[in-house]
Amino acid sequence: MVLLLHSPLSPLPAHHFLVSKQPFIHTPITRTGSEPGPDPSAYLLRSIRVSAAGTPAADRKEEHVVIVGAGIASLATAVSLHRLGVKSVVLDLGESLRTGGTSLTLFKNGWRVLDAIGVGNDLRTQFLEIQGQEVRAVERRILLETLADQLPSDSISFGSKLRKIERSESGGTLLELTDGSSISAKIVIGCDGIRSPVAKWMGFSEPRYVGHCAFRGLGFYPGGQLFEPRVNYIYGRGLRAGFVPVSPTKVYWFICFNSSTPGPKITDPSVLKKQATEAVQNWPSELLNIINLTPDDTIIRTPLVDRWLWPTISPPASSGKIVLVDDAWHPMTLNLGQGACCALEDAVVLARKLASAIKSGSTSVEDALRSYSNERWPRIFPLTVRANLVGSLLQWDNPAVCSVRNNVIIPKVVRLGPMLEHTNFDCEPL
Ligand SMILES: Cc1cc2nc3c(=O)[nH]c(=O)nc-3n(C[C@H](O)[C@H](O)[C@H](O)COP(=O)(O)OP(=O)(O)OC[C@H]3O[C@@H](n4cnc5c(N)ncnc54)[C@H](O)[C@@H]3O)c2cc1C
Repeated sequence: MVLLLHSPLSPLPAHHFLVSKQPFIHTPITRTGSEPGPDPSAYLLRSIRVSAAGTPAADRKEEHVVIVGAGIASLATAVSLHRLGVKSVVLDLGESLRTGGTSLTLFKNGWRVLDAIGVGNDLRTQFLEIQGQEVRAVERRILLETLADQLPSDSISFGSKLRKIERSESGGTLLELTDGSSISAKIVIGCDGIRSPVAKWMGFSEPRYVGHCAFRGLGFYPGGQLFEPRVNYIYGRGLRAGFVPVSPTKVYWFICFNSSTPGPKITDPSVLKKQATEAVQNWPSELLNIINLTPDDTIIRTPLVDRWLWPTISPPASSGKIVLVDDAWHPMTLNLGQGACCALEDAVVLARKLASAIKSGSTSVEDALRSYSNERWPRIFPLTVRANLVGSLLQWDNPAVCSVRNNVIIPKVVRLGPMLEHTNFDCEPL
């Protein structure tokens, strides 16, 4: 059975394909072309080194603002602070920015922030707009590189893995790295992702596995891809997939499947590709072709997790002069496409409050961080819960429930306008 819809269940303008035994797909061909694309080797990685291993306390490196992690949350925060005249140092355990990986969809709220920090138009020209909305699937690598390019050349310290955190007697924080070096920081911003050591140290629980995993990849069409710029969804039982053109030569795809456990970590791309293909083997050939055209370094399998920040039970986002941003604080599932968008929102809100406290001195840093936590919680808690519930609905495998979802909820109940209300976010330029 096939159903094409313009009012999606997931918040993207989309065509939905409801799969029974014989899935069928229809994607009118309107776009061709080739993309010059940036040369990854042209991007120069910048690195600074912190103090040498085993140095006595007197030689310990002192920093004002240290950001742990060099993902979207970190770089957006560092760029925002930089625009507001506050220098920060970014530490990441990797030897370079994450160059592999796939894409993520950025909605209107994400674009407002990218405009506010001066990189929106640069990115817009590289990625296709999806069906008249301010929605684009953006390559993670290009987003990270674009943000990193805004920072002074000595901002990011790669190969710097945080091992231990301690409060120092002076009221700052001592960060010990696995190479034995250490940094004394006045302010620490934890942007170290879902397994955040900073969050763990602050007393946060491990994120919770939600019962499904995702394969993701970025199909590459050297001669140009021919899909319409819109998201295509395919629904099965306990299984769903989608694909969306990213640029004239690249198409992002995903498959979400139920699994009682997160399963073993698999990094061999040939195994991942085989598993992804087998999961949807009788599904539309377009999807199988995109998977087949996916380069090894862009295929990934991720167990989906989130953390619900219950009022009064969960710790606040800040403790003294230490604060968390995005996945380190509030990991959410991919179902609303809001994880990275909220990273961008968090970044500008935090940077404004922190810069104002540092520069004017009228508010203490601790109060500024508390104010960030209080402002962001009512925004991110409902989104985390909603993303989880949407995921449960989409991953149902009961035939009767799937039939109601496919025949009533998706075609008759869901409307695009209300579904995208959460993407409204005002953000003045920094
Ligand atoms: C399957 C899937 C699909 C998604 N799709 C979308 C989407 O379409 N739209 C959207 O907006 N969001 C999406 N998201 C969410 C989005 O990817 C995340 O919210 C976002 O990337 C998190 O960024 P971050 O900077 O908080 O964390 P990360 O990107 O995880 O960065 C954390 C950084 O911290 C570093 N680090 C970790 N530990 C240490 C340590 N001990 N010392 C030093 N450095 C350390 C890591 O190396 C890493 O660079 C998706 C997520 C998933 C899983």
